[in-house]
Parts: sequence; structure tokens; C-alpha cells
Amino acid sequence: MQVLQHSEHTLKKALISKNPVLMSQYEKLDAGERRLMNEAFQPSSDLFEPITVHSKSDWITSHPEDPQDFEQFFTDHNRKAPCPEKHIIYMQSIGSLGNTRVISEEYIKWLKGYCEAFFYGLTVKFLEPVSVSATKCSFRVNEHTQNLQIHAGVGIFSFARYGKDFYSSRYEGKVKKAQRTSSSDYSIFDNYYNPEVTSILLRRSCKTLTHEIGHIFGLRHCQWLACLMQGSNHLEESDRRPLHLCPICLRKLQCAIGFSIVERYKALLRWIDDESNDTSGAAPKNSSDQVNLKKPVEAFKDWREWIIKCIAVLEK
Ligand SMILES: [Zn+2]
Ligand SMILES: [Zn+2]
Repeated sequence: MQVLQHSEHTLKKALISKNPVLMSQYEKLDAGERRLMNEAFQPSSDLFEPITVHSKSDWITSHPEDPQDFEQFFTDHNRKAPCPEKHIIYMQSIGSLGNTRVISEEYIKWLKGYCEAFFYGLTVKFLEPVSVSATKCSFRVNEHTQNLQIHAGVGIFSFARYGKDFYSSRYEGKVKKAQRTSSSDYSIFDNYYNPEVTSILLRRSCKTLTHEIGHIFGLRHCQWLACLMQGSNHLEESDRRPLHLCPICLRKLQCAIGFSIVERYKALLRWIDDESNDTSGAAPKNSSDQVNLKKPVEAFKDWREWIIKCIAVLEK
């Protein structure tokens, strides 16, 4: 395992920059916010840790990219920032998740709530879910794995890979020979296998969702500290990457959206603590829909402790 330990000087420059305008902008931030972000270059910080590389297949070694510091982010004229006319994140779910309609609807609400806390200040709207056939995407059964794959366009990702066993020969979603139909027959997606809704699946989904939306706001892959915006090449690496943004990426996101950092952390805490989040209107309509609708947040408990520590630094 290799530890990518940047010097205090490098991290300070990546966060604050040497540009006088950006330096004075940093000085004008709330004192608590600066205290938290300065943890980026405190060698003894237990809030922000260096990136560790575990194998050659990890993203950073297999996809060399230029790092992006705050100044490069700030001066990127192509990046998109929300404005009063455009401040809504729209999400479109394709297909279903979980084994009943109610789980699928609840899962979407959990993700929406998470996204609204993460991108604090923006509104998240879910568009009416559509079936795979409605998208008219082409699809295939992967010859090697026998898994069903949709040939999707940009900005689409699948939670299927985050279910347990997806990469194993035991995966229940494999398509059996007898089920194979023509490429225009979408009936193969009807009642297709759904991964079990678990806390780990929810954490992985929240991570992917916020990482990908982070890219939409112009945040590139992070090479500074352990961070949600680190690239990831495989599931083990993705699981290793934290749910939080490092101070450099946090400053980028705050610059794009303009939230109070402490209010954002409190909103994330509320999302974790409010386990029965937003179940109104999703009451089971018949006995086959009787499911446990409690939000499975066990996998967020460590992160909860981390957020509490950050709030303490912010409010010291
Ligand atoms: Zn990425
Ligand atoms: Zn980062």
C-alpha cells in the first residue's frame, strides 16, 4: 500500500491558492469554516487523511490525470454553477429497485433527501420513473458474465453493480439461455432480478450519485486527500473512498452552490437520524406490499460520528 502524502505547502496552495483575489476570498469565509478547512494541512488531523493506493488497478495509477486545485476550478470557464433560474437537480430513474414498488419509491425518496442535504440549498426533483423499454436504449446480455447491460447515454449509472454478488458467479441476475430474446424485446426486463435493499447498497448509491453530480458542477477527480471525488476503478476502491468531500473539494462545492458548511452538515445529520424519512403517501396499499420501510442507515454511523466532529470544529 502506498500513501500519497502531500506536503503542508502543497495542500495549502491547493486549498487557498497564491492568487490574491482567492486568498482574500478565503479570508472572508466564516472563522469556523476556515478552521475546518485548514484541517486539510494539519498533519495531526483525524478528519482528513491522505489517499492510499492499494494496487496498480486503482484509479490514480491506471488513469493519470492532471490534478485540479481550487484556483483551476474557480477559473474554469466551462464549469456550470446553479443560478436563481437553474437551481434544480432533476433525476430520472429507469427501471425499479427492490422487490416491490413501495421499496422502489421509498429508496428514491431516501436518495432525494440525501442529495438535497449534500447539495444543500438546491432542490432535487425526481421525474416520474420510466421503464427500460420507454428509454428505447439498446441492451445486451454480456457474453462473459451473462449479466444484462443497457447501452446508455451520458450521465447514467446503474445501482445493479452495488448489489452483493454482482461480480460473482452466484449472481442471481444472470440471464439464462432460455430467457434470451431479440434485441427489440424488452420483456426481459419485466420482473428482472433486483438487488436486495441494504444499508450498504444505500451507502454505495448515495456515494455514486453525489460523486457524479459533483462532476456536473465542475469538480474533477480529487488527488489531494481521501475524498468522495477520488476516481474509482472497482468496487473495493469505491467502498474505500469516503462519503465526505476533502476541504479542497468542499470549498469548490461551496463556491458553486454557496451554502453554509455547518448548515449542510446538520442537514446530512438530520437525514441520517430521520430513519423513517418521508414515508407519507407510501403506505402499503395491499398485503403483498407489506415491507419494512425503515431507512437502513447502519452503514452511515461512522460518517455520522465524523460529521459531529466537524460540527464541533465549526462551532468551537
Ligand atoms: Zn468520477
Ligand atoms: Zn477532494
